[in-house]
Amino acid sequence: MNDQVVGLILKEADYRENSVILTVLTKEFGKLSIVVRGVRKLTSKNRAATIPYTRSELSIDYREGRTIFHLKSAVCLEFYRFLHEDLSAGCAIAVLAELIDAFTLDESDIRFAEICFDLFEETCRLLNERHPADLVLAVAVAELMKTQGIGPDVDECVHCGKKSVRAISAKEGGFLCQECAVKLGVPFRETAELRQFRLINKASLRHMNLLEERIEDAREDLSVLIEMIRSHAGLRVRSYRLLAALDPAGEVQKE
Ligand SMILES: [Zn+2]
Repeated sequence: MNDQVVGLILKEADYRENSVILTVLTKEFGKLSIVVRGVRKLTSKNRAATIPYTRSELSIDYREGRTIFHLKSAVCLEFYRFLHEDLSAGCAIAVLAELIDAFTLDESDIRFAEICFDLFEETCRLLNERHPADLVLAVAVAELMKTQGIGPDVDECVHCGKKSVRAISAKEGGFLCQECAVKLGVPFRETAELRQFRLINKASLRHMNLLEERIEDAREDLSVLIEMIRSHAGLRVRSYRLLAALDPAGEVQKE
C-alpha cells in the first residue's frame, strides 16, 4: 500500500549514515516516526520537504500497530520561510514543537493529535506572517495548556477563590488575592499586568490582530506559563532557554 499523508515535521534526529528520523504530526494517524534514508546526501530530493517546521505531503506504507515507517517520497506544501530566517520566530516554533512532542503519545489519542496539528499549523502561519513571536507563542502555549487541563486559573485566587486578585504565581497555578500573596511571599503585580496575563489565557490565536493592538511585550507572560509547565507537568522546556536569552529585537543578549 501507498499512503499519502499531510504531516507537520516537529523534529529530526540523526539516524545511521546520512539518514534521519523525523517526528511527524498527522491528523489521520497521530504522531509518527519516519525514517528518511540518505537525506543528508547533497543529491537528496527529499531535503526541503523534510526540514523541521514544514508542512509536507509524505508517502509511506502505513500499518496499524506500527509507529515507525520509511519515507518513500515527500512534497513540501508549505516551507514557512520566515521561521528559518528569523531567530525569534525559529526559537518560538521550536518551543511549541518540543511541547507538542512531549504532550502527544504515539497514536494514542487521534483527537488530541488533531487539535495539536491545527494549533501547530496556525502558529507556523502566524509566525511566518511576522506577528510578534513572544505573543504568538504565549497564546499558543496557553491554548495547549488548556487542552491538557493545566492552564492557569485567571478568574479568581487559586487558593481561596476571592475575585479580587493582586499577584500571579506559576507555582500555585494562577492568580492570588492580596492576603494569599502576602502569606506565600509572592510579589504584587500592576493591574495592567494581571489583565494582560488573563487576556492571553482567555484568547485564542484567532484573535491575534486584536491582541497585537493591546499587548506590546508578552515575554513575562510566556515565562510564567513555561514555569507552570515545569512545575506542574514536570517538563523542562529546553528550547525555551535560547528564546529567553533573546532581547526584544531578536538578538542574543551578551552576558
Ligand atoms: Zn486568596
